[in-house]
Amino acid sequence: MKKLIVANWKMNGTAIFTQKLLAPIIDKKTSPLSEIVICPPFPLLHAAHNIMRDSQLHLGAQDCHHEPSGAFTGNVSASLLKEMGCSFVIVGHSERRLHHHENNALIKAKAIAAINNNITPIICIGENLEVRNSGQAISTVIKQLSECLPESKSSCIIAYEPIWAIGTGMSATEDNIAEMHKEIRDFVGTGIKILYGGSVNAKNAASILTIDNVDGVLVGGASLQADTFLEIINY
Ligand code: PEP
Repeated sequence: MKKLIVANWKMNGTAIFTQKLLAPIIDKKTSPLSEIVICPPFPLLHAAHNIMRDSQLHLGAQDCHHEPSGAFTGNVSASLLKEMGCSFVIVGHSERRLHHHENNALIKAKAIAAINNNITPIICIGENLEVRNSGQAISTVIKQLSECLPESKSSCIIAYEPIWAIGTGMSATEDNIAEMHKEIRDFVGTGIKILYGGSVNAKNAASILTIDNVDGVLVGGASLQADTFLEIINY
């Protein structure tokens, strides 16, 4: 089965960057191994959608609001994301949990809003270093999962992203990943994709993608350079 490779550009990119980064990926994307989702910042969704229109790439957003519309300055609804061409949305990224104080209940509501608009939510979960060092990583992640996952869980994708591995250059070990993904699989059952995220790069992608219960990867920093991202896609 194809692996899902999700690019999270975070707060990076410009209109010119979008064109320059996507053009070679669309041109050279020959791998039958992967399905690709590009998640640019909101203002670049329209440009990215136009560039990707006739390609096999999918468009995703980095967040959505849980309400359909209203007085929520600065937020974006799932229905508008759908209109902009998104078929995926990341919810509950640890940077949103940290900087925007998002909790599991809110993340679940966002996932439901996405599903109601035929968008697949990519629900992020993961422990911080303190929790891992205290031996509570598995229980913490399973609690997050149980509180974030909507009833219609088959419409969701899970991304396990240990916080200590995000943007640090220090990916989790293969044993860490295998152990946590097995726990998540036992909890969610079959038929739900489980991604790993945290310092995935061109060197470690292939081995991470062969670990049991790893159905794809969520890539931050390494998705911002076409050459590197192409190597990951063609792992
Ligand atoms: C992320 O943003 O979800 C992420 C995993 O970032 P990085 O690949 O840079 O660690």
